[in-house]
Amino acid sequence: MNRVDVTIVGGGPVGLFGAFYAGLRGMSVRIIDSLPELGGQLTALYPEKYVYDMPGFPEVLAKDLAKNLIEQASRFNPDLVLGETAEVLTRDEDGWTITTAQGTVCPTRTIIVSAGAGAFSPTKIGVAREEEFEGKGVFYGVRDRSIFAGKRLVIVGGGDSAFDWALSLAPIAQSIKLVHRRDQFRAHDETIREVRETTDVEFHLWKVVKELHGEDSITGVTLENTQSKETEFHECDAVIVNIGFKSNLGPLKDWGLTIEKNQIVVDGLYQTGLPGVFSVGDVATFEGKIKLIATGVGEAATAVCVAKTMIDPSAKLFPGHSSDMDLKAPATV
Ligand code: NAP
Repeated sequence: MNRVDVTIVGGGPVGLFGAFYAGLRGMSVRIIDSLPELGGQLTALYPEKYVYDMPGFPEVLAKDLAKNLIEQASRFNPDLVLGETAEVLTRDEDGWTITTAQGTVCPTRTIIVSAGAGAFSPTKIGVAREEEFEGKGVFYGVRDRSIFAGKRLVIVGGGDSAFDWALSLAPIAQSIKLVHRRDQFRAHDETIREVRETTDVEFHLWKVVKELHGEDSITGVTLENTQSKETEFHECDAVIVNIGFKSNLGPLKDWGLTIEKNQIVVDGLYQTGLPGVFSVGDVATFEGKIKLIATGVGEAATAVCVAKTMIDPSAKLFPGHSSDMDLKAPATV
């Protein structure tokens, strides 16, 4: 592969805006992401949820926000390495080379790590046949609400995800049983009230899923009472598991970055301790850090501008306003 000016590790909202901004600054860009699709958590974890704190959008569905960010980043045709995990970092005389776990060699002048929470995976219930039923009745999020229309659902968990999905799916599902291991919830009180008062969701408290039943797809679950250990069978078509997520920086931990509490320590210019390697968004930490998309995209723009001046010392740090640029012409700011 050719050497690009900047490689963005993590194609979530912050990385996508960084890719756009680097394009705006006339830099060649490559995005590496272990997920097969761009958009990060917006696309993978909560596509059907509304985001309310994006400037200019009173409310926007996460998947629509991702679509717009992808369209914006695509203006400058970034090189995409998707479904591959950035694994090994080596220094060379023109910058760095990232080799993915899949063996793709990606030379680059600078790097911006915007890996969010790192490699993200949902917590599993940990019962027999769970893997076998993945996507065939066992789901760890909702990508497409319509597949649950008319279905008998078991939703597991007592946090915001479980309650948000119970609320969102109640109008289209045939029935919903919410299964939680105790009688206290982590979800917002208002959402709990709404589920209790405006839906027919059945609460099964002090219970956990003990067994999954079915041939090719789920037809029922056995629940166990966590106190009495009594079990009961419930017919259902799908089990939606919302019992939290695990995140892991994975191979980034071996890059020689300073890592504190699973986050990369950066200075005021979002520089890590490695020359030309920046980190922004949720994965980066510094005093006063606020983990929002709205702040992360600003961090990305600054990191891009600093990277630009490293590659081309004659370039200005601040390129001026985009409203003054003719973006139909090749970007050379
Ligand atoms: P979460 O808040 O971590 O809740 C996970 C739930 O699953 C908890 O009720 C927990 O029970 C239960 N649980 C964990 N391990 C379990 C196991 N092995 N067996 C049975 N139950 C288990 O996860 P989340 O709901 O996905 O939310 C993740 C984060 O995103 C939270 O900070 C949440 O506030 C945020 N979020 C916010 C919104 C929103 O604001 N609308 C929406 C979604 C997510 P215990 O309570 O007993 O530990």
